[in-house]
Amino acid sequence: MSGRYSNSCGRLDAMSEKVVAGIDLGGTKLLGGIFSEDGVLMGERLISTCASQGVAGVSDRIKWVLDDLMDGPGRGCALQGVAVASPGPVDYRRGFIYEAPNLGWKGVPLGAELQKAWGAPVWIENDGNLAALGEYVFGYPGKYGIMLYLTVSTGIGGGLIIDGEIYRGADGGACEFGHMTILPEGGPRCGCGNFGCLESLASGTAIGRVAREAVARGRCRIVSKAVDGQDGEIDARLVCEISDAGDESASFILDEAFNYLGIGVANLVNLFNPEAVIIGGGLAGNQRLFPVVREVVSQRAYASSTENLDILPARLGGRAGLMGCWAYLLRVRQAGAKSP
Ligand SMILES: [Zn+2]
Repeated sequence: MSGRYSNSCGRLDAMSEKVVAGIDLGGTKLLGGIFSEDGVLMGERLISTCASQGVAGVSDRIKWVLDDLMDGPGRGCALQGVAVASPGPVDYRRGFIYEAPNLGWKGVPLGAELQKAWGAPVWIENDGNLAALGEYVFGYPGKYGIMLYLTVSTGIGGGLIIDGEIYRGADGGACEFGHMTILPEGGPRCGCGNFGCLESLASGTAIGRVAREAVARGRCRIVSKAVDGQDGEIDARLVCEISDAGDESASFILDEAFNYLGIGVANLVNLFNPEAVIIGGGLAGNQRLFPVVREVVSQRAYASSTENLDILPARLGGRAGLMGCWAYLLRVRQAGAKSP
């Protein structure tokens, strides 16, 4: 073979094919993928995060996912860089996670640790920012200059892309949309410790809580019947199912949440005047969300900012963060940026 070898990149070459990798680190699921240099997703792995195993346990699982990919579809390839989409605020300059409440993490230098393990540059970026970038580049390619992205599922997050760049603010903490205050007086407590945040009123967690309270007060009989008194099983998915089947009390709970979401989006439209608001996450699949949000935004935001505004569903589903990792790595490599 005179120094040549074949690898599962499908090449017979003296030089290894170059690949990059993305890791979408969620509170419950961990999705890894490797990409060829021209952006073809060569393989992906989805495993449970097992957040209860702590920083060391989860770090090991991240390493396992990428090692497994490099042993499989990436065998014989040269890893050029890794981007990690992390929940919560991060210092992207240092590869440092300030806080990831869903994981119970505070002050974790994940970038340095992974870099040591893989010997390849590692970048850590907020998951909402990367999902926004993924939708910008792959979901709606070339369509919008200023695009806001919101994900509405267990929590509410998102990102803002301006002319292809992530808007991070001064310290990387911008676009925590879920934590804008919507109800200052008497609002429910949010996971961040504040009261009346958008996330505490319009997320899947909030919808489940409101439905359970309604059942406890005897105001949502059909939800109650559907779970046969199993209070703990009432969640947003069930409320959506029962609403789809025509139950008015479940639809009322959803409309109230989507009304709050519309208020949040209207605030964002008045602040940023985007060309598009793209909404993803589990609840974006509910048929009531877009009509309610569009109506509230048209009532509350400036007409000049809503006239040409598109409010549309995300297109990449659960892969937005992973695809954003690839787009991010392409940008930093083109810019010749050194990892932290
Ligand atoms: Zn909050």
